[in-house]
Amino acid sequence: MARFVDTVSRMRTPLVVANWKMHGRQALLGAYVAGVTSGLRRVSGVECAICPPTPYLAAFAASLQEYRGERIALGVGAQDCSSEQSDGAYTGEVGAAMLADVACGWVIVGHSERRARQHEDDELVARKFEAALEAGLAPILCVGETEAQRQSGKAGDVVRGQLLAVMERVGAERLAGGAVAYEPVWAIGSGQPATPESAQDMHGMLRLCIAERSDTAASAVRILYGGSVKPDNAGDFFVQPDIDGALVGGASLDPASFCAIAAAAAAV
Ligand code: PEP
Repeated sequence: MARFVDTVSRMRTPLVVANWKMHGRQALLGAYVAGVTSGLRRVSGVECAICPPTPYLAAFAASLQEYRGERIALGVGAQDCSSEQSDGAYTGEVGAAMLADVACGWVIVGHSERRARQHEDDELVARKFEAALEAGLAPILCVGETEAQRQSGKAGDVVRGQLLAVMERVGAERLAGGAVAYEPVWAIGSGQPATPESAQDMHGMLRLCIAERSDTAASAVRILYGGSVKPDNAGDFFVQPDIDGALVGGASLDPASFCAIAAAAAAV
């Protein structure tokens, strides 16, 4: 398969992001932050972010302040944001500027669970990506095919289309202000990850698609793999040349597992 080979040999710092989904309680935050910061003290050369549910974002960010002198590369992210860039009559929506206001640095957009359950389409996801950038956040664009799309041989087209919708809206250069996460829907929460080689094929295709518009962006943008990443399989993904980290669901709920995945990324 054709690959974009980075001619400037730019090193991309690995990025490992925790997606708690709708899990957790306020009472657990202190122990989680203590566990994750203690584990990450032993890890360098990897950037991490935790995305707890919206009500806990401000408290999570405040707890991290205790560790600010320690040079732990750990940020806070949200799991979604509104596509609206200005405040207004949008009941239940949370604006990207509000997330930035409570010290979020990241936001996931277009997660397959929202595409399926909230019927989010590529156009809406692209608007969310843009709203996040405008607010100074780094959006993480999730792309990925369903099992049926994979079976019918459409996986590449689907994933490429999801990426193109965002590049058409914000341009390829601005994509690198965030990250992309390739998450095959059938691998999420199933305990059946993609093979590292098949994930690499998809990541290589995505990077080539970015390079068709901007070599600089293709070199810079981090493309994460997500879907049943665990401490014992993470390293097999991270050795692939176009896999720059992971978006981790289930395994991120345990700080030790999350830190072990971050350590695997740092080891490559
Ligand atoms: C996710 O929901 O983004 C995810 C990758 O979940 P899991 O790691 O549990 O498969």
